Amino acid sequence: MEKKNDWNDRLSPGVRSIAPSGIRKFFDIAAQMDDVISLGVGEPDFVTPWSIRESCVYGLEQGYTSYTANRGLLELREEIARRYHQVYQTDYDPQTDILVTVGVSEALDIAMRAILSPGDEVLIPEPCYVSYQACTILAGGVPIAVPAKIEKEFRITPEELEQHITPRTKVLLIGYPNNPTGAIMTRKDLLAIADFAEKHDLIVISDEIYGDLTYGEEEHVCFSSLPNMQERTILLNGFSKAYAMTGWRIGYALGNPDIIAAMTKIHQYTMLCAPITAQIAAVEALRHGEKYMKNMVSEYDRRRRLIYDGLTKMGLECFEPKGAFYIFPSIASTGYTSNEFAEALLKAEHVALVPGSAFGSCGEGHVRCSYATSIDKISEALNRMENFLRNHRR
Ligand code: PLP
Repeated sequence: MEKKNDWNDRLSPGVRSIAPSGIRKFFDIAAQMDDVISLGVGEPDFVTPWSIRESCVYGLEQGYTSYTANRGLLELREEIARRYHQVYQTDYDPQTDILVTVGVSEALDIAMRAILSPGDEVLIPEPCYVSYQACTILAGGVPIAVPAKIEKEFRITPEELEQHITPRTKVLLIGYPNNPTGAIMTRKDLLAIADFAEKHDLIVISDEIYGDLTYGEEEHVCFSSLPNMQERTILLNGFSKAYAMTGWRIGYALGNPDIIAAMTKIHQYTMLCAPITAQIAAVEALRHGEKYMKNMVSEYDRRRRLIYDGLTKMGLECFEPKGAFYIFPSIASTGYTSNEFAEALLKAEHVALVPGSAFGSCGEGHVRCSYATSIDKISEALNRMENFLRNHRR
């Protein structure tokens, strides 16, 4: 019999070796069920503040519908540089050191593609955001997981990183405040990491998309603001989380002129530029959006305390998140794997969350709950989870 064509054989090795996102799978199942409370999505439940939306509408009325410069509107790059200087005392030149991208997602992808040669290794503290390994592999690199543990508040030390250094290590990719754990790194922690990066001459990619979402006494420390770090750091940030602008698809990269020029070269052949409508809105967000952002952050904080108390009272070991809008309780005591737990909870109680294994094998034994949803929904989800634990412990 003639062999049937297997189109998978013709796909690139990179794409064949990555799995579909473990987050999407649960959304798809939940979408077919009734009365589901989702703690699964990593997306603000707020609508983009009106003044930001209005600036876009006004821009459209004025006829701003064209491409922009590849690097993005100069006005936006100037606002980004100004804000970073004001908040973190960095010194980025809007002409050469900033690239406006289609979300942090694009910035991460082209940073990897601009830097990595086949076989270069990327140190990634794990659990981590789902795209970190995938973008590394698709750029020909090799992700090297460095386990971060709940006992150490999911923070990472140079000694732990040191164990994974090889002659092929080229990049350290960090993301604090962290998705999925809610961990942050203190200034002292990061100073030690900076010494480590210098010692091994690494490029650091620092994804600071949750930098504005920290709680209580905790202050975000911008990695490139540390002594000597601006030159070797590619800082990624965007508007999706802090300004509730996920659908606008707008972010940016800050870095040294050579790397930003290399990233711009890829960007100009692939995206050309980020959407002008989103760039206009982003200027308004940086000029006048801070008060709205602060209101959203204080609401996340209320929800954070509710969910942390609720999960802890149920007997699940939790690290109290210090940033972002996720909590990552251990479910090891239940006897389920994280995948089994998420599936059984969804089936029995119609609560959707994400198994920790979606964030790398170091996430096994945990589940990620997002508290970017209303207090009422979180309360109801907690009731249902308590009920589940009463009936389903193994
Ligand atoms: N980085 C982290 C840590 C994230 O959690 C996300 C989205 O969930 C992204 C990047 C993607 O952000 P953007 O919407 O700017 O592409």
